[in-house]
Amino acid sequence: MSSPFPYSDDNKRYHTLSYHLKKTFCGRVFKAVIDAGLNCPHAITGGCTYCVENGSEFSHSSSLSITEQLKLERERIFSKYGEVGLIAYFQAGTNTNADFEKLKQLYEEALSCDGVVGLSIATRPDCISQELYPYLGELAKRTYLTVELGLQSSHNTTLARINRGHTVECFCEAHQQLKAHGVRTCVHLINGLPGETESDMLATAQFVAKQAPSAVKLHLLHVMEGTALAEQYQRGEFEALSQEEYVRIVCEQLRFFSSDVVIERITGDGSHQRLIAPKWSLNKLQVLADIDKYLQINDIYQGDMAWDT
Ligand code: SF4
Repeated sequence: MSSPFPYSDDNKRYHTLSYHLKKTFCGRVFKAVIDAGLNCPHAITGGCTYCVENGSEFSHSSSLSITEQLKLERERIFSKYGEVGLIAYFQAGTNTNADFEKLKQLYEEALSCDGVVGLSIATRPDCISQELYPYLGELAKRTYLTVELGLQSSHNTTLARINRGHTVECFCEAHQQLKAHGVRTCVHLINGLPGETESDMLATAQFVAKQAPSAVKLHLLHVMEGTALAEQYQRGEFEALSQEEYVRIVCEQLRFFSSDVVIERITGDGSHQRLIAPKWSLNKLQVLADIDKYLQINDIYQGDMAWDT
């Protein structure tokens, strides 16, 4: 039986990344993760309280070139899935944190590699230079390009509390510029940040929905060993979300995003060695199943409250 939803052929009530990629490329496409050695500029101001890339681990220094890394990723992915398309994913660090010519050379090198059909660039909204926007716009015409921006919360008090290092207004400026240059955007949110109520998190989703991003990643706050957040957690300054709370919150958030917004992530990857809390998040399959169940039982789906945003 075909799905009643316009964005799924596997009975999901939200627009999955796999469905989007299949429709866009008429074939299978996977992300090939690379580390361009571009460090986070926020390191010198302490970094986000939840960041695991602190201290000596803050430095990205892959000794392999982009071409070499993509060759390894291609071999790994092809051995598992056969010949598929690859999106070169500049994930580690802040991937617009270098001078313009250097960035251009890195992105063009990735694009020239065998099997690469697109680029995904993860960065901070306060780290995109004015001269980069037109180039990104030109790149978006040539290839499938996504720029991932972290926002995490639409509340400046929360951004200050987690030492995010930028404001909501800064995010809006960068996001609008990317959209004005025709660049596909993906916005990261985190549920369960210290001091936030459920209605704060729903307000963040509504706020982001109004910015009309191309995609979102909905994350759960992970308390990781060795972070400032872990110290706050151990002092009892906040509690981690329960699985029931998280499932309810993400399902209610989905309702605000119109059906064309791709949900690139809806839970954590469940593989953290240094995870302190919440431990239930390690069972990713159960969380995904509970999300499907909640949506079904309540007969709700992505976008069914989009007109309220
Ligand atoms: S922006 Fe990312 S890398 Fe930089 S401090 Fe925050 S979490 Fe860490």
